[in-house]
Amino acid sequence: MGQVVNLRRIVNPPAAFGTQMQGRRKRRTWSIANRPQIDNLPHNARIVYGGELDFTCNICGAANSGVEELGREGALCAACGSSMRHRSLVAVLVHELFGVALPICQLPVLKSIRGLGLSDTELYARVLADRFYYRNTYLHREPVLDIADPGPQEPHALDFLLASEVFEHVRPPVERAFENALALLRAEGVLVMTVPYELQGETKEHFPDLSDFAAVTLRSGAALVNRTAAGELQLFSDLVFHGGRGSTLELRCFSESGLRKVLADAGFAYVRIHAEDYPEYGIVHQESWSLPIAARRRPPESNRALIRELIERNWDGWPKALRHEQDENRRLHDELAERTEWVRTVERRLMTEIEDRTQWAHHLEAQLADRTSWAQRLDQQVKTLEEHLRRILSSRWHRVGRLLGFTPRRFD
Ligand SMILES: [Zn+2]
Repeated sequence: MGQVVNLRRIVNPPAAFGTQMQGRRKRRTWSIANRPQIDNLPHNARIVYGGELDFTCNICGAANSGVEELGREGALCAACGSSMRHRSLVAVLVHELFGVALPICQLPVLKSIRGLGLSDTELYARVLADRFYYRNTYLHREPVLDIADPGPQEPHALDFLLASEVFEHVRPPVERAFENALALLRAEGVLVMTVPYELQGETKEHFPDLSDFAAVTLRSGAALVNRTAAGELQLFSDLVFHGGRGSTLELRCFSESGLRKVLADAGFAYVRIHAEDYPEYGIVHQESWSLPIAARRRPPESNRALIRELIERNWDGWPKALRHEQDENRRLHDELAERTEWVRTVERRLMTEIEDRTQWAHHLEAQLADRTSWAQRLDQQVKTLEEHLRRILSSRWHRVGRLLGFTPRRFD
């Protein structure tokens, strides 16, 4: 299992901090100067991660150690080459599907889950195709799918749609691309995506009137020629290209609020920005922007049918973590049963004791009744004796005796 060694996040360090840090090896600082400002933090705040990261790749399962170069496109897996962005996208996908971010290589084969990728990297496309009924698509080669104009596709068929660094390159209007994405998803389906975005302001559309266009290479550099729908010719220079094949010209710069709005307008009522770190998988976000996003028609339900299917299909392939959880549940259940039994025993013992005491009280009561009747009988006897004595005292012979002077002492 991956471990974080000496990972620290320091916000707004004291002035002397920078100089202290300079002399140390294995310490790096990332300044956010000239970057979008983090909410609620002073402008000169810094986010600093120091130390090395040990992690297990959640795509290929390889153990990595001593990784220093963190960052969205960094923290590369030595085995498969995945970056933090790749791993966080996959972690979010698995989390959205199963409610827990397990390494995808530990998942069983589940061909009933249908997914589609928009120009996904082969890094995880292969692993996804092994696990799920998944198909990767491209803009410029087979199988082709242009999310701006997908053509005839089976509607509402997908459990998930992946789009990493795609929507900033899709030709306008980008709203239509998000609507098309929604149309491909089942009612419970999820769009998992990454795009670069800023925290403040609105989405900036670089070429809002793009219609009939081409990127051309002039002697002075790359330029974009466009004829608008109204027939006007436009020429743009200072283009921003992103690395990778296909259409990589940056057409817009999203803002977080702009993204939320365009998703909501398209019908994605549930949008979740996944800011969680998974250091055990080498996912330690260095920024609070451009994070992976999950979007759905409505909030996710607990996906019981899917989880049941997981158990039924491949118990052996069931990840240890979940099995451990099941064992723990069973243990708690047994403990509860044990304690309930103990409570019942105590209850039984108490009931017996109460019964004993009640009997004893009844017995006492009976004794008391006996003694009362005995006392009453005694009283009666005394009265009889007294009567008898009175009669003796009043007898004639008694009076004679008294005259002779040998009477006993008087009783009355
Ligand atoms: Zn890997």
